[in-house]
Amino acid sequence: MHRLTLGNFELIAVSDGAYHLDGGAFFGVVPKSMWQKKVTADENNMVPVGLNSVIVRTGDHTVLIETGIGNKLPDRLVKIYGQPAKLLDNLAAAGTSPEDIDIVINTHLHFDHCGWNTVLRDGTAVPAFPKAKYHVQEGEWQHGRRQHERDAISYMSDNYDPLIKSGQMTLLRGDQEIVPGISVKVFPGHTQHMQAVIIRSGGQTACYISDLIPTSAHIDLTWVMAFDLFPLQTIDSRKQYYAQSIPEKWLTMFTHDPAMPWAYVEKDERGRMVAKQIT
Ligand SMILES: [Zn+2]
Repeated sequence: MHRLTLGNFELIAVSDGAYHLDGGAFFGVVPKSMWQKKVTADENNMVPVGLNSVIVRTGDHTVLIETGIGNKLPDRLVKIYGQPAKLLDNLAAAGTSPEDIDIVINTHLHFDHCGWNTVLRDGTAVPAFPKAKYHVQEGEWQHGRRQHERDAISYMSDNYDPLIKSGQMTLLRGDQEIVPGISVKVFPGHTQHMQAVIIRSGGQTACYISDLIPTSAHIDLTWVMAFDLFPLQTIDSRKQYYAQSIPEKWLTMFTHDPAMPWAYVEKDERGRMVAKQIT
């Protein structure tokens, strides 16, 4: 478990475990001869993919960013991806119970980002964090509802519709502060309405950049996942992010890095992007 102090806040990276994605899909148009220097694929070309959530303790609030795959995946998808379902155990290991969480933020509604929003009780999806207010962009939810042929498989309504119906999930319209020091900012590319979570305290900033930059192997502007609906916008959004995060020395938090949940992303003297791990 990784912990750090950011100003007056405590940040704890907690994992739902690791699953697997096709390496070609994970690295898009980047040739395998290049990405295999960073990540090792198995005999089926699958690569390990982390599921990092972050707990932020602000003193007044206990915020959970992202909720992993969860434990409701249908068998046909468990066969493809696996279902590690470790988040609640790792929350407990971090000294946090589901009742302690008062804010949940989902960056978007793909099943590997909001799976623990709900759990099944007698076949009905109920909130896994009973006292929490959940947050996601309204446009993201609208897109999921369309069940478009391209990505319908990624959207499982049990992860969010019961929460919206009960009023426990707030649908956001654009950038805004969620609680003092924690705000969301939309970065289009992976989906049109994916939001990053920006955490500021005591003059320090961290950003959970989600699938805009999923791992430390994706920090180059053009290493864009094949899953992204708008790859050119991913590149533009990354440029916009780096233009602020690099000079202001933001800590970047990676949603899918199996080994490095956060790092400082910088440009070296040759202009290449490098991820500097916190020591
Ligand atoms: Zn996604």
